[in-house]
Amino acid sequence: MAQGMTTRLSQLNRSVAGKAVIVTGAASGMGRATAHLFADEGARVVVADLGEERVAKVVAEITAVHGANNVVGVVADVTSDADRRRVVDTCLSQFGVIDVLVNNAGISVGSSVFADDDEFSLAWDNTLAVNVSAQAHFIRLVVPHMRSAEIAGRIINIASTEAIVATPGLAAYTAAKHGVVGLTKSMATQLGRYGITVNAVCPGPINTNMTADIPTDAKAKYAHRKVPLKRYGEPEEVAHMTLNLAMPASSFVNGAVVVVDGGMTIQH
Ligand code: NAD
Repeated sequence: MAQGMTTRLSQLNRSVAGKAVIVTGAASGMGRATAHLFADEGARVVVADLGEERVAKVVAEITAVHGANNVVGVVADVTSDADRRRVVDTCLSQFGVIDVLVNNAGISVGSSVFADDDEFSLAWDNTLAVNVSAQAHFIRLVVPHMRSAEIAGRIINIASTEAIVATPGLAAYTAAKHGVVGLTKSMATQLGRYGITVNAVCPGPINTNMTADIPTDAKAKYAHRKVPLKRYGEPEEVAHMTLNLAMPASSFVNGAVVVVDGGMTIQH
């Protein structure tokens, strides 16, 4: 007789229910979609972003669906050490643990090699501060709590296809996103022994505030030329990959750079 027929073979859990999750940049776009998705799947979420009203709006949206116990907002600038500590402290005081960090907050400003000195310096400094340095500092703040938690931690850094290929005039953004991948890989090698995984997600062109100023016909043309699926992606399509990396079942995925771009970067 075949063995094990009465028990299922798969053992790993796909549920993030009850997990305490910090999402930065959660008032808009992919961060908002990610915060909603985690809450929809039963997790408890810290919504961190700039702007009191913007944060309150997303907290209210999630509260309306899941109640007030599963979500808390923190108005925070990810480039501020004090603000980052408030985000972490709020997660601990509300939920008692930190299971997942989604480093999502980001900005995209031009940084042409031919720009004025001041303009280039400002773009360079701000872009690296928000898009990569803040991620590193946030990881350092959550790791001690994840190490002491019983359940292994999950860190997901949002990079970009600009971490793999490049666009003229976006030197700072491209450098920062390549930096996110390097940060991810280094942290993954160091934190693996504690059962903490660190992975990066590289979205392609996604319909969010970041791309809202691009005219619709320009987006359509770009997507037609560049993306095998012939369209921009939606924030939720990226959020599901982030959620996957946070699942207990993703326990052996570490240091991965996962592209969610409709096939853009594999096409000549
Ligand atoms: P978005 O503009 O809709 O959301 C970004 C959020 O980050 C905003 O709510 C903004 O307030 C927040 N943020 C910016 N600076 C911050 C700071 N200093 N402190 C706290 N919060 C801050 O854009 P999005 O497209 O959802 O961007 C999310 C992430 O995805 C970013 O890291 C971005 O670089 C990346 N990304 C976007 C695309 C795209 O096509 N939209 C593609 C690849 C990667």
